[in-house]
Parts: sequence; C-alpha cells; structure tokens
Amino acid sequence: MAASNSSPSPRNPELRNDKINNKWIIFSPARSKRPSDFKSKSPVSDPTQPQTHVCPFCIGHEHECAPEIFRVCDDSDPNRWRIRVIQNLYPALSRDINPHDPPDSLECGVITGFGFHDVVIESPTHPIHLSDLPGSGVGEVVMAYKKRVLQIAAFDSVKYVQVFKNHGASAGASMSHSHSQIIALPIVPPSVSSRLKATKEYFEKTGRCILCEAPQKELLIHESKHFLSVVPYAASYAFEMWIIPRQHSIHFHDIDKDKADDLGSILKLMLKKMASQLNYPPYNFMIHTSPLHLDNSYLSSSHWFLQIVPQLSVLAGFEIATECHINPVFPEDAAMILREVHVEDTDNILREIHVEDG
Ligand code: AMP
Ligand code: ZN
Ligand code: ZN
Repeated sequence: MAASNSSPSPRNPELRNDKINNKWIIFSPARSKRPSDFKSKSPVSDPTQPQTHVCPFCIGHEHECAPEIFRVCDDSDPNRWRIRVIQNLYPALSRDINPHDPPDSLECGVITGFGFHDVVIESPTHPIHLSDLPGSGVGEVVMAYKKRVLQIAAFDSVKYVQVFKNHGASAGASMSHSHSQIIALPIVPPSVSSRLKATKEYFEKTGRCILCEAPQKELLIHESKHFLSVVPYAASYAFEMWIIPRQHSIHFHDIDKDKADDLGSILKLMLKKMASQLNYPPYNFMIHTSPLHLDNSYLSSSHWFLQIVPQLSVLAGFEIATECHINPVFPEDAAMILREVHVEDTDNILREIHVEDG
C-alpha cells in the first residue's frame, strides 16, 4: 500500500482470528494499491439506461412469473404493488414434496430436498434499485422478509432460513431487476452451527455476547437508533460491512416496524457509501440469523446481523484450499474511508421518480 498524505501509512501483514466464524484472515496491504484506489472494475450497469429486453419482474409482467405468495400495496389499488414475494421458477429445493419421503436419513448422509426458494421483487419498475428506495421503502422490503420468514417458520421440517441478495452478475445475479431471495433449508448449515458454537464459547469464557460488545471506535462506520454498522475486526473481504442490532436479538424475524425502518435507512446508507467509494460494485448481502429451533443454551450468545460484501475480487486457490481469506485492506482503514465518504440524501428525489413512474 503506497503511502500518501490522505491514506494511512503502510503496515506489515497480520493474521487476525475471526472469533465469530472461527476463521483466520490474512491482512496484506501489499497485495493491493492504497484503499482509496480500490474500486470495482466491473461496476453494475447504469439502471437508468433504457431497458433492452422484457423482464418478468417488471410491473405488468406478473403472468410471466412463478406463483405469487403475497404483495405489498395500498388497499386502494392492489394492482400498483410496491413489493412482490413470489415462488422461484427454478427453485433449489421443492415445497411440493413430503419432507419425510425417502431418501430421508440424516444418518446415511442424505435427506429429501424439501424446502422453499422464494424471490422478493423489491420494486415494480426496472431502473429502481434497492438503494434508490427511500429508507422507509427499504424498511418495507425488510418487513416483507420478516413476514415470509414467519410463514415458513410454521413448517416443522424447516431448520434454517437464509435471506440474501445478489446484485450484479459477478455477485451471482442472473436477473438485473432489483430482487432478493429467501431459501428455507431442512438442515442447519455447518457454517451456522460453527458460528453458534464459537459465540457460545466466547460467552462461556467472558460472560458476554460478542456481538453485544461495543466495537472498537476505529471500526465503527455509523450508528442509528437501533443498529451499528461496522467493518468487522477480522473482515474476510475488503470493505465488508456488518449491520448489527444494538440490543441483543437472536432471530432476525423478531424485528418490529420501527426497527425495520431504521434498518432500511442504515442499509440504504451503507449501500450508497459502498457505491460511491467503490464505483458501484456488484455485491451480496446476507442476513445471518439463528436456526428456527434453537436450544436454550444458545440464547444468550446468538445475535443476528446483516453482512454486506462488495465483490471486488474472486476467491482463488489459496482461499479455496485453506478457507483463510487474504484481505488487502485493514478493517480500520476501510471503516475510516466508509465513515468519511459523503452520500447525498436521495430520498426526496426518488419519491418524485416513483410519482412520475406511477
Ligand atoms: P439471481 O440469479 O440471484 O439474480 O436470482 C434471480 C432468481 O429468479 C433466480 O433464482 C431465478 O431462478 C429466478 N427467476 C428467474 N425468472 C423467474 C420468473 N419468471 N419467476 C420466478 N422466478 C424467476
Ligand atoms: Zn424488470
Ligand atoms: Zn448479543
């Protein structure tokens, strides 16, 4: 990392233990240019450019989609929806099979592929991306996630529900219309079990939930009424961000409307900061919650959070082999840059766009 007047001085590589995910991360600034030069080389295309193909997620094309589960709209005009939650036309798991049909044998290492795979269409119009919505609009999307997770939680065979968003082709998105997805699994993924175990061990050693602890000041990006946004101490990815509830909270789906609106605003702010600093990169976000049926012994140490990962590089041989990520940007440098990058409050402008679209 070349030194400059505005960037932090060079540092030696360092290995940090991610105590939450029980991983080791190598911080190696030598592997990149200084953080302020760290920009996406493949920004997601400009959504305001005219659309050249027909999109099934656009308003008016509902019949080209798999069945709707629910929509968010005003009672006065149900056709003018703002959000639709639909089944995935190409689901990873099937909701239509009996979860206990053969082959259902965890002992033999095989279970029936029962589960849910839904799509959340975040806006009726193609050019509007999630971060273009007003904070309360992003909050409405968060409440749609909650409603759907609660519906899915009624199925006994579902053990874990993953809410996630892919934005941009190199972040895994196949559709450019703003959307996120929900996959409900009949198992608890090993990464989740490992996180629960690591945070429980930390609690047993210290008497504290690791995610309730105040972050180091240098890692903090923003504080809202109910949430903190930080770069984690041992971030796996350059400019990775976490949004963490300030109050101990085990399950994402316990969020209420006030907190969802607040989450919507801070999520929008983080997406805007990331876009501004990193040249509109492809990105993913994931809500890391707790398994639906959680043993009482995990209640004090399990705390949900939302992880945002800008896709600036690909995982290569070393990472695949060792699961040790190499991150070229020290978290405190990334946090300083994200804290300081200024973004305009676009809420008012976008309300006008929505009015014109309608
Ligand atoms: P992504 O691939 O992350 O962009 O997510 C888009 C998802 O939408 C994919 O999982 C597709 O299977 C799904 N999909 C594509 N077309 C349709 C459609 N017409 N109706 C419902 N789901 C769709
Ligand atoms: Zn569209
Ligand atoms: Zn906590």
